[in-house]
Amino acid sequence: MRIAIIGAGMGGLTAALALQRLGFEPRVYEQADELIEVGAGLTLSPNATCVFRHLGLEERLREVSVEPSHSAVRHYQTGEWLVSRERGPSVEAEYGAPYLQCHRADLHDALLDSVETNDPDCVVLGRRFVSLEQDGGPANIHFADGSSTEVDVVIGADGVRSEVRGSLFTQEAPIFTGHVAWRGLVPVDGLPEEVTPDSGISIGPMRLFTRYYVRRRELINVVAFARMSGWEIESWSEHADMEELLTVFEGWNSEVRMLLEAMPPELCFKWALFVREPMENWTVGRATLLGDAAHPMLPFLGMGAATAIEDGLVIARCLKQPGDVEAALANYQAARLPRTNFIMQESTKRVAQLQGDKPETYDRAGERNEESLGLFEYDAGTVPLQAAAG
Ligand SMILES: Cc1cc2nc3c(=O)[nH]c(=O)nc-3n(C[C@H](O)[C@H](O)[C@H](O)COP(=O)(O)OP(=O)(O)OC[C@H]3O[C@@H](n4cnc5c(N)ncnc54)[C@H](O)[C@@H]3O)c2cc1C
Repeated sequence: MRIAIIGAGMGGLTAALALQRLGFEPRVYEQADELIEVGAGLTLSPNATCVFRHLGLEERLREVSVEPSHSAVRHYQTGEWLVSRERGPSVEAEYGAPYLQCHRADLHDALLDSVETNDPDCVVLGRRFVSLEQDGGPANIHFADGSSTEVDVVIGADGVRSEVRGSLFTQEAPIFTGHVAWRGLVPVDGLPEEVTPDSGISIGPMRLFTRYYVRRRELINVVAFARMSGWEIESWSEHADMEELLTVFEGWNSEVRMLLEAMPPELCFKWALFVREPMENWTVGRATLLGDAAHPMLPFLGMGAATAIEDGLVIARCLKQPGDVEAALANYQAARLPRTNFIMQESTKRVAQLQGDKPETYDRAGERNEESLGLFEYDAGTVPLQAAAG
């Protein structure tokens, strides 16, 4: 089976590795000429780390990740702890896989190494997908450099501005949420005080500050959110204005101020948060979508990367089942779409709790977070793959 994956991000590379493990030889077409270090931190909850266990990547992932012992919620002004939650070994004991936090580039490197060790020709760089055509048989995909290739399956894993999605469906304009975010990395060396616990957030009206250790605790990943209008650039590489960021978080607790003041400007980026409506269908003929291309979500449950990773293993399992490609893609969509649409909706709702007017009333009992919603319990390696109805 000739399988083309468009996009060598988290979802595309996980799908490639899972397919290789099941005996396929996929090709991943990536628009970038070079895969350089981009992005900052990602949270990998047990529903994501169990995928890497199935794929034999857990040890490598642990080497570059941090397993926080606790994660906590603080009041934005006083710094008082409102909720503290145990992480570390207790998560693994309960869900069967660890809760880890890592630099996006470290996970990306680990995935790329494994995929290329299995097949050095798997990832093809400098190939930007532009269109596809299919009429019942194999699909033809076309690239910006003028080349084309015929394949049996097309998996669009080309991220939040997916061109595969645009070629299969009428694209609706993304909707600006009124939220902007800054993300940056703070070197731990030289910080005046230790930051504890390993993973924490500070919550306040219309603002949210999150931070956790990555890269063997050498760096602290910081993401700060605020409701703002008048700035709508959805990019991973737009540099931030540090003075603006410090002004937005004026009056916040000393930990927040310390980290913002210590953040090197060249490591701080600003982006506007957009939503797309959940889709009811991702698949046309022999082409489907995966990860942010299928279900872009707000980051308030920390599930964007995790759901792309789950998709990668489930689609490989579906393609391995007996039957034709169309049936496999229908089964994949049936297995994944209800869960990812639910998580999209809950990610949008969660912000009201995190940025409420009275953070002092925030408590564990009322929390509607990724753990209390039961999202950690999902295992993409064993979840039943039933034939899609109809
Ligand atoms: C540069 C970058 C930095 C990021 N930084 C962070 C971060 O700091 N924190 C965080 O939580 N999330 C970050 N993300 C998002 C996060 O990686 C995704 O939300 C999540 O992992 C879902 O993965 P995905 O594979 O669906 O999409 P992505 O990881 O976005 O990968 C999509 C891939 O498709 C490629 N692509 C796009 N269009 C085409 C095309 N037409 N033809 C071929 N290839 C194409 C892209 O270059 C990219 O490699 C970042 C994404 C990117 C692309």
